[in-house]
Amino acid sequence: MRHEVRWERMFPDELDAALAACPVCYLPYGLCEPHGPQNALGMDALRAHAYAVRTALACGGIVAPPSYWHIHDFGIYAAWAESRIGQARSWLTAVPPWQWFKNLCYHVRGADALGFEAVIGLTGHAGPHAQDLAFVQDVLQRHFAARIALVPCTRITDAPMAHAGAVETALLWATEPDCVDVSRVPPPDAPGPHFAMAPDAGQANRREGERLLDGIVSRLGGIAKALLADYRAPAAGRQTMPFAELERIWAAEIEPELPNFYCMQQERRGGGEPPPAEGSQWRLNWQVPAP
Ligand SMILES: [Zn+2]
Repeated sequence: MRHEVRWERMFPDELDAALAACPVCYLPYGLCEPHGPQNALGMDALRAHAYAVRTALACGGIVAPPSYWHIHDFGIYAAWAESRIGQARSWLTAVPPWQWFKNLCYHVRGADALGFEAVIGLTGHAGPHAQDLAFVQDVLQRHFAARIALVPCTRITDAPMAHAGAVETALLWATEPDCVDVSRVPPPDAPGPHFAMAPDAGQANRREGERLLDGIVSRLGGIAKALLADYRAPAAGRQTMPFAELERIWAAEIEPELPNFYCMQQERRGGGEPPPAEGSQWRLNWQVPAP
């Protein structure tokens, strides 16, 4: 029998039944970003989406359409890219931090408005924004009945994840085999950079990816279960937040804090990347706007 958990592929009766059975919404995030010559660009969102789909199939819930636009080409992300990507065409699907975080707020609002009791935002893209999620989660949680968890994928596995290295490649291989081609890993002595690939990428092992994936699915299922257990229906009933109220919350509670976000710092706190060279493609948005 058909068992679909991907929102955009479901019929209305299936969505209603899935919500009634398990009111958990997964919001997967990533972007197209260089991940070595051996991985498809969509790596981060492909993984986040696949983790959510496998968890929903096992534990219930609905997986929202993945968002493939995320923070990059900016500030310390640009400085990071200077040595890893160089002047190659990046094929990034990048937006600045304020754009991404505001979209995230709207996505959470949308899930709450539909009656979900637990909302899990899952970002496959790593970076300093991961440290800003807790703040945004706290702000949103004060205003919504649904229980909210904003989770970086690096927190649901203990495996160390070098960018486009053996572990990340193995996880994509386990989840989306068509999106990995290890024959494209360059020979060890080939001069780099190799489209942001980590040096250990050639050791990627699909079986190891599958083993790690089992652990990820069980951690994610645990988060969903804990959020549902924490949910309390408001005594006055669920209220749907209008767009105008979300704009008010954004302007009053999040926007003023943006200059303090980790992802808005020019350099990683406690040591950073050197500035991109004059004339580099990474110089354009490297300088963070003054608060
Ligand atoms: Zn990645």
